[in-house]
Amino acid sequence: AELYGIRRWGNGYFDVDPDGALTVRVPFDGGDVRVALPAILDGLRRRGLRLPLLLRIENLLDAQIARLNKAFHQAIRERGYGGSYQGVFPIKVNQQRQVIEEITRFGTPWRHGLEAGSKAELAIAMASLPADGRLIVCNGYKDRTFIELGLEARRLGHNCVFVLETPGELDLILDCSDRLGVTPVLGIRAKLSTRVDGHWNLTSGERSIFGLSISQIVGVVDRLKQAGRLETLRLLHCHLGSQIPVLDQIGQAAQEACRFYRELRQEGAPMGMIDFGGGLAVDYLGDRSQNSQSRDYSLRQYADRLVATVQRQLADDDPPLIITESGRPTVAYYSLLLFDIFDVTRFEAEPDQLRPAADDPDELRRMHDLLAALDGEDPATAYRQIVELRDRLHQAFTRGELSLRRRARVQNLLLAAGHRLVARFGGMDRRPKELDRLRDELADICYGNLSVFQSLPDHWAIGQLFPVAPIHRLDERPDREAIIADITCDSDGRISHFIGDGATRSTLPVHALKTGEDYVLGVFLVGAYQETLGDLHNLFGDTDVASVRIDPDGGFQVTREDRGDRVEDILQLMQYRVEDLRDRLRRQAEQAVGEGRISLTDRQAILARFDRCLQETTYFCS
Ligand code: PLP
Repeated sequence: AELYGIRRWGNGYFDVDPDGALTVRVPFDGGDVRVALPAILDGLRRRGLRLPLLLRIENLLDAQIARLNKAFHQAIRERGYGGSYQGVFPIKVNQQRQVIEEITRFGTPWRHGLEAGSKAELAIAMASLPADGRLIVCNGYKDRTFIELGLEARRLGHNCVFVLETPGELDLILDCSDRLGVTPVLGIRAKLSTRVDGHWNLTSGERSIFGLSISQIVGVVDRLKQAGRLETLRLLHCHLGSQIPVLDQIGQAAQEACRFYRELRQEGAPMGMIDFGGGLAVDYLGDRSQNSQSRDYSLRQYADRLVATVQRQLADDDPPLIITESGRPTVAYYSLLLFDIFDVTRFEAEPDQLRPAADDPDELRRMHDLLAALDGEDPATAYRQIVELRDRLHQAFTRGELSLRRRARVQNLLLAAGHRLVARFGGMDRRPKELDRLRDELADICYGNLSVFQSLPDHWAIGQLFPVAPIHRLDERPDREAIIADITCDSDGRISHFIGDGATRSTLPVHALKTGEDYVLGVFLVGAYQETLGDLHNLFGDTDVASVRIDPDGGFQVTREDRGDRVEDILQLMQYRVEDLRDRLRRQAEQAVGEGRISLTDRQAILARFDRCLQETTYFCS
């Protein structure tokens, strides 16, 4: 467990059983319940689901919603704050119907609402939430249809708020409201000058593409006054970007937002709600640091800082409702991707290829001598010389002066030398600096049955790290180091940065494969953003998906199972008509029969094979 940092990033939800199985730990009133992931996988396979598989554990979604709301309620209680808190879930972070339905169902006691950034998301929000006055916060650019639908939502009983992203939206909203006879509730998204760290910090600062500048805010207030509609302005919104690692920056931004709120009240707007957007980070590294993939604070500290700031700045007036739009931490833990390793390339020397031959060129003979020198006084220099000789021999190969078989022996010698050097210095603190790179170069390549582009797009696009670990054999010490290549034919289709025990690493410790036994790895914390951002690179489609709910007695129910895309589904998405393809193939086969190249039986076999391929998963079948 330590090697993979499971207890660090697992947030209390993941652990290892004494028999080496990675377990999911679900909180219940009567105590935590542990269920082994291999047991869940086994149950799903017996239902016909296959790897790669996106596994959703519904209880973890519930647990995160509960933790978020409880953290704010506790901070409010402890500080004696006079206002209250409501969370809204930003639909864009995971739009799947099941996620939204579960959040609205489980979030009912806390009146957890939804945030919508487009017409489609508003349609989801209206239809999913009961019309019980829970918040629907509408961000994003709004056209007439969007606005009219939001006003109808108010008529139905939803507390739908339009947050102005541009000054131009205001007149359109006022016009639609007059036509429909529905009074809107408005918010202003302010561009704060506070800048934050992290991957997604472009949303912060005055050059942010979202929100209103100071002069635009003044213009909106004037326009509302002029129209006699200032009473519709109720909410101040800010969002500095996702995954903000530093609590002090969140605190500074909150303070600045409070100043905006106060000034708007002084202008005469009734206000009543302050919305701090998203940004609450997930500690993917599990090291509680200011790294962009981590956070230097806990959920409790985050809630406390926001409540304390609002209380200090605004409680003397009418204490506002505090809103946050946490998406990433709400859903990240809930999904994990399971995939198998279907092949491995090792970078190891063949011992029977290490004997010199009488007619070897000088450089090759010298390489053999230096191999022995690696056990001597100055192994680092000996290794450097070996590398130089290897380069010279490669040039000789290019000039046509070295045979293919000799070049293979050069490669073999270099691998032998590399391993000997690593073995000699491996565990030492004072070791030659090339050694770390060398160790990476000697690592295995494990071929994983997944597409990074489809399932982990943020890893490919922006280097986001997700925890990766085998889900079994964790009672055996792994004796190999590896990187993972995915199944696409793309050199970017790899995972070569991993989360270890409190530090990142360039290789993953893995176990040697056993014949006849699957080796299954999990990529964890993939519930946020990954599902809809993924693409069809190399035409690898959706994986199988299963949702499970763990019971207090340690059993589980499969609440939903979806087969992934078949080859045929993906071809249709790319505008191919499968019937046309089949017809073309049939004609080719017919011609081949006519020319006597294949028999009629061959023809049938070819067409049947083509059909079987179209019906199969896009992933590797063993
Ligand atoms: N609110 C708004 C307006 C956003 O743009 C986003 C995403 O960036 C979020 C909330 C969700 O942020 P997070 O996933 O950091 O909770």
